[in-house]
Amino acid sequence: DLPLLEISGLRTQFETPDGTVKAVDGVDLEVHPGRTLCVVGESGCGKSMTARSVMQLIDPPGRIVEGEMHWRPQGAEAVDLAALDPDGEPIRQVRGGQIGMIFQEPMSSLSPMYTVGAHLIEAIRLHREVPKDEARKMALELLRRVGIPQPEQRMDVYPFQLSGGMCQRVMVAIALSCDPALLIADEPTTALDVTTQARILDLLKDVQAENQMAMMFITHDLGVVAEMADDVVVMYLGQVVERGTVEQIFSAPRHPYTRALLDSIPKLRDGGERPRLRTVRGMVPHPQNMPSGCRFRTRCDFAMPGVCDVDMPDSSVVGEGQEVRCHLYSHADGPGGIPDAVEE
Ligand code: SF4
Ligand code: MG
Repeated sequence: DLPLLEISGLRTQFETPDGTVKAVDGVDLEVHPGRTLCVVGESGCGKSMTARSVMQLIDPPGRIVEGEMHWRPQGAEAVDLAALDPDGEPIRQVRGGQIGMIFQEPMSSLSPMYTVGAHLIEAIRLHREVPKDEARKMALELLRRVGIPQPEQRMDVYPFQLSGGMCQRVMVAIALSCDPALLIADEPTTALDVTTQARILDLLKDVQAENQMAMMFITHDLGVVAEMADDVVVMYLGQVVERGTVEQIFSAPRHPYTRALLDSIPKLRDGGERPRLRTVRGMVPHPQNMPSGCRFRTRCDFAMPGVCDVDMPDSSVVGEGQEVRCHLYSHADGPGGIPDAVEE
């Protein structure tokens, strides 16, 4: 099966007076039809920028400087999205027409000036030539599909009259209005309370199952990854450090950063003790001041002096479809993996 979206060697950079910020620095990833790829990492790792690059939604002084993003909607010829003019008609057709997108702050994506119905009708008519009353019927149907109660009444309310969860449902409805082959969701539940979060995740899984839609799901939350992902890409400072299926990432994580992220999930101990909450030690270096060699070495428990501070590791294959960017696996004199003795 050919990937629906195949990104290779993507570099997105920002020129600032203080130098170049390499927000996305040579990213390779694939999204397969009907599957969910979760892109996970701490803030500043480039996961949002990767998602925005797909849609050519990078604000100046940022721009895509290198790489290819092959987009193959069903039955159509592959298009390299990276080669399209960010302001041109072809990317506009893709954006919102073939690829839907939802963001962290649903409220800020909706105009306070327009009713829910007006937003939906506009989205529908942007990509389809249908008369207004027909579009209105379609809008109502979309509101029903995303589980909004009393859709007739909700058509006429303004975004600020809705809760955060209801707003996000409206955003999902807008994203679905073009029947997208791919939905890109950038932290869509981060701003919501836990109960609402769970409901939105359920909704996304339902619509995905109905539509056979693929999803690229950006999150910093491994709980969300466990819930949503088929495939996982772990990013650190603009690079993919590990990729694999969700089973591989949770049951056989290989990169020290993936291990550290998994260790940071609070675990309930026996006897009702307070859950232990660990975070990955140290701070993410500033992207303008990247470490030499491996970018994770300033926080890595396994860094090998003379190796990790000198050479940037390449990706190596460690299992069927699992790849890791770490000298522990690739260096001739390395241990061939994370040394057991250091594990708890
Ligand atoms: Fe740690 Fe070295 Fe692997 Fe980087 S390459 S993650 S510093 S062991
Ligand atoms: Mg972000």
